[in-house]
Amino acid sequence: LNRRLDGLGTTIFAEMSALATATGAINLGQGFPDTDGPESVREAAVRALREGRGNQYPPGPGIPELRAAVSAHQRRFYGLGFDPDTEVLVTAGATEAIAAAMLALLEPGDEVIAFEPFYDSYAACIAMAGARRVPLTLRAPSFRPDLDELRAAITPRTRLLLLNTPHNPTGMVLTEEEQQAIAALAVERDLLVVTDEVYEHLVYEGTHRPLAALPGMRERTVTIGSAGKTFSFTGWKVGWVTASAPLVAAVRTAKQYLTYVSAGPFQYAVAEALRLPDAYFDEFREGLRRKRDLLAAGLRAAGFEVYLPEGTYFITTDITPFGEKDGYAFCRALPERSGVVAVPNSVFYDDPQAGRSQVRFTFCKREETLEEAATRLKRLA
Ligand code: PMP
Ligand code: GLN
Repeated sequence: LNRRLDGLGTTIFAEMSALATATGAINLGQGFPDTDGPESVREAAVRALREGRGNQYPPGPGIPELRAAVSAHQRRFYGLGFDPDTEVLVTAGATEAIAAAMLALLEPGDEVIAFEPFYDSYAACIAMAGARRVPLTLRAPSFRPDLDELRAAITPRTRLLLLNTPHNPTGMVLTEEEQQAIAALAVERDLLVVTDEVYEHLVYEGTHRPLAALPGMRERTVTIGSAGKTFSFTGWKVGWVTASAPLVAAVRTAKQYLTYVSAGPFQYAVAEALRLPDAYFDEFREGLRRKRDLLAAGLRAAGFEVYLPEGTYFITTDITPFGEKDGYAFCRALPERSGVVAVPNSVFYDDPQAGRSQVRFTFCKREETLEEAATRLKRLA
């Protein structure tokens, strides 16, 4: 393994999901729903397969139907206009979009400022691009970014801000004032912005607004979305990028040599999914809000300190009330102790001491599963 990938061994999601499989514990670690997305969307995939649409290499940038649907989605929800031919790119999940963006936009030695705790692929992709990640630490209990720290972190080497709102794992959602301040800094210091908005439809307080919608941001921002998250098909690996034509062209260049194209039949199905009526998106969010409240209550009753998320399908907790400090050790022992799997947030920080006592649970599971997990977690008391 080369030095760039030093320390990036096995993702925490693989490790903890393997633990769940081995122990039969309820897996509230890796964020994937236990109920698939809409039947009509699954049927659309089957139809495409049967009718031979997408069974051979689809067009590199994505099938035109899906690019048009992504563009229409950005217009319907955010009033943003993107040309489906030049300003939309289909990727193999948001994961590839992140990788392709980092590989396309960074020079070796460039600095990237990213929130910490960070979604784990950010660190790996920045490292693979030979760039340097500069953390902007979000601190409990509010996990709000400190904008003075952000300003101070910008150097002449800073090329890009890698943002994530709603934020995994803390559930923080940037406020309009924070967005404005970040946008003003990006413009003032002429920075690119890559913004991972895969949880755009999971905001429980207020509504999501893309960074790209702010003045001066459209031409410098790469926005990333995911059908895995929005339609509960994480196994399909369909994501997308919207940005100005030059930025999309750059990301597309890298994407060509990563996967070349993304899975064909699923693209037809995701195009249909993006056209679902508003009611789908409202019900999806409200269902997850109930689950959030259910799991939060269960975790509190079990003795955790709970940081109620404003968005995403994750709850970050603190285990200090149990008299424990090491979240990693806690998560390794949790299946034996209580039949539940969670993820330690420490792996999402540079400094393993930071966030050491934080543990993340996902609530994208059936209500009865969450209730059962809550019952089991009471054994910790
Ligand atoms: N970004 C964030 C913040 C995520 O939580 C995830 C995980 N699902 C991804 C990107 C990756 O999305 P995808 O499954 O579409 O590759
Ligand atoms: N994004 C999901 C999570 O944070 C899982 C993604 C993965 O397994 N790489 O749990």
